[in-house]
Formats: sequence, C-alpha cells, structure tokens
Amino acid sequence: MKESQLVIVGGGPAGLTAGIYAGRARLATVLIEREILGGQITYTPLLENYPGFPEGVSGNQIGQLMEKQARAQGIAIVLDEVTGLEVRPEGKLVKTTGETYRARAVILAGGCRRLLINAPGEKEFTGRGVFYCATCDGPLYRNKAVVVVGGGDAAITEALHMTRFASSVTIIHRRSQLRASKVLQERAFAEPKMKFAWDSVVKEIKGDKMVTGVVLHNVVTGQTSQIEADGVLVAIGHVPNTEYLKGIVNLDEAGYIITDQMMATNVAGVFAAGDIRHDSIRQVVSAAGDGGTAAVAAERYISEAK
Ligand code: NAP
Repeated sequence: MKESQLVIVGGGPAGLTAGIYAGRARLATVLIEREILGGQITYTPLLENYPGFPEGVSGNQIGQLMEKQARAQGIAIVLDEVTGLEVRPEGKLVKTTGETYRARAVILAGGCRRLLINAPGEKEFTGRGVFYCATCDGPLYRNKAVVVVGGGDAAITEALHMTRFASSVTIIHRRSQLRASKVLQERAFAEPKMKFAWDSVVKEIKGDKMVTGVVLHNVVTGQTSQIEADGVLVAIGHVPNTEYLKGIVNLDEAGYIITDQMMATNVAGVFAAGDIRHDSIRQVVSAAGDGGTAAVAAERYISEAK
C-alpha cells in the first residue's frame, strides 16, 4: 500500500491543474492516469479558445505543458488504471490494477470517453479529417464539406456550429428521425447549408493524407453510396469513466458525478472535476477551473480533518 495525502484520478486538464495546485500547496500527491497525460484534448490539433494562446495551441502541446507544470510542483505521476475506490475511516483506498493508494482525499478527474463509430478509417484519420468537437476544430473546415454522424442534441448542436464555417454539413443518422430536441431540429431543418442522409451508417471513412469521403450503408434498402467530404465529425455520445464509482458516490442518470460548487461529492473528502462531472460544459478552460477548485477544496478538507 502506498500512502499520500491526495490521490488525483485522471491526467487531463482537470487532473493536471488539480496537481499543479496540490503541489503548490505542498500536499503529498499521486496522480494516476491510465492512457495519455493531457487527456482527450491531445487529439485536438488546434485549440483556439484557451486563453493565453492568441495564435492557438495544439492539444498535445498544452497537455505536455500542463504535465510539465504539474511535475515541476513535485507531484508523483503514475501510469496505471484505477479500478476501485473504497471509503474507510482510516482513509480513501484507490485501487489500481497493481497497487492500492491510501489518501486523506481523492479528486476524481477521469473524464469521459467518446463513443466511436468503429468504422474502418476512423482511428487512422483522427486529426486528419475525423474530429469530435466543432468548437475546437470547426474553423479548420472553412468552406469545406463536412459530414456529422449522429442524431442527438450533441450532433445537431455541433452541426449547427459547423454551418458557420463549412460550405455544407450533412447529418448522417441511422434512423429517419432525429433524437435531438425539437427546437434544435427546427433550427437544423431551417438551415440552408444542412443536408440529411437518413437511415444511414458510415461503413468506411476514405482518404489519402486527409479524409476525402465516406461510404454509407443504408440500413433500410441495404444500398451503399458514397459522399465526398473533407471532414467527418463524430458526435454519437460520450460515456463518463465512472463504472467503478457506482454505489460509492452519487451519480446522475447518465453516470456523471454530482458535485456542489466546490467540486465536493456526497462523500466527505472525495471531489470531482472536469468532464466527469454533472453540469460540465466539457471545455479545457472549465476543466482547468474545476481542477483548481477541487484542489483548493481538498486542501481545506485535509487541513480541517487533521
Ligand atoms: P445521445 O442523446 O445519446 O444521442 C446519440 C446519437 O447518436 C443518437 O441519435 C444515436 O442514434 C446516435 N448513435 C449512437 N450510437 C451510434 C452508433 N454506433 N452509430 C450511429 N449512430 C449512433 O447523445 P448526445 O447527443 O451526445 O447527448 C448526450 C446528452 O447531452 C443528452 O442528454 C443531450 O440532451 C445532452 N446534450 C444537450 C445539448 C443541448 O441541449 N444543446 C447538446 C449536447 C448534448 P439513435 O437516435 O438511433 O439512438
């Protein structure tokens, strides 16, 4: 068993910012990340809405800078997968595949994972025409043809945002009716740049250096067709990485962690920050803000509990 004052689960912008604050507060801190330091943002080629970078910054670069800044504050960073959390009077036990960490406080900043369409070409062309966030990457598709996969609120919101930049935006939806709220549907149907490919799923994403189009399969007729496109925005939903937290902290219906304004969960000494949190706007700037708030709250909790 390893001992520390604070364990941070997740090394995206929320977790790394919490690490910067915790390190500066001289809390003995272990941050555990299972995949990639920097988190989901590392997949974004150009981030233009994070303050301080008027020319924009790549997601990868900002992730690396945040990691460097967190390490400079003396926190320990471990690459491992968290599989369990146990709350005991003597501390919180954070279990990974190979170790147990005991701490006074925990910050849950494990984020979400996006649902993938799992079509050939999706992984290969991610960052080269396949993207997941119109706010982040939309301006890269000025005057270009874009398809958006999905029919929910996220897909329609993202598609409407894309109409500011793209020459055309084609929604590819697996049914003949959108799931999105009526008001969003009305806006989408009224938008001249928007087209719809109904009853269709993406069978393949084609390209050479960059995406050139998608092959569609019509689930009703069984026919295959092709659409030329420069961009494929996938927006079929996210799932929070909270499976191991069910029954331990309060989650909303979709599995996101419910917190108060200081990022406290219903369990004393357990905090949550970033995209994993109910109400998050899923932006780097808000994740960083959550992380700072959670670390300040955790520091107060630890010093008051002494
Ligand atoms: P969602 O509501 O679950 O919609 C996912 C969409 O993707 C559905 O249309 C679904 O099709 C489709 N889909 C799912 N898996 C697919 C697959 N494998 N292949 C093709 N299509 C697939 O998810 P969301 O749009 O991300 O929204 C999540 C939550 O956030 C919702 O509660 C939503 O209201 C909220 N939200 C709200 C706003 C807003 O109000 N502006 C914006 C974003 C998100 P089916 O319809 O056939 O199931």
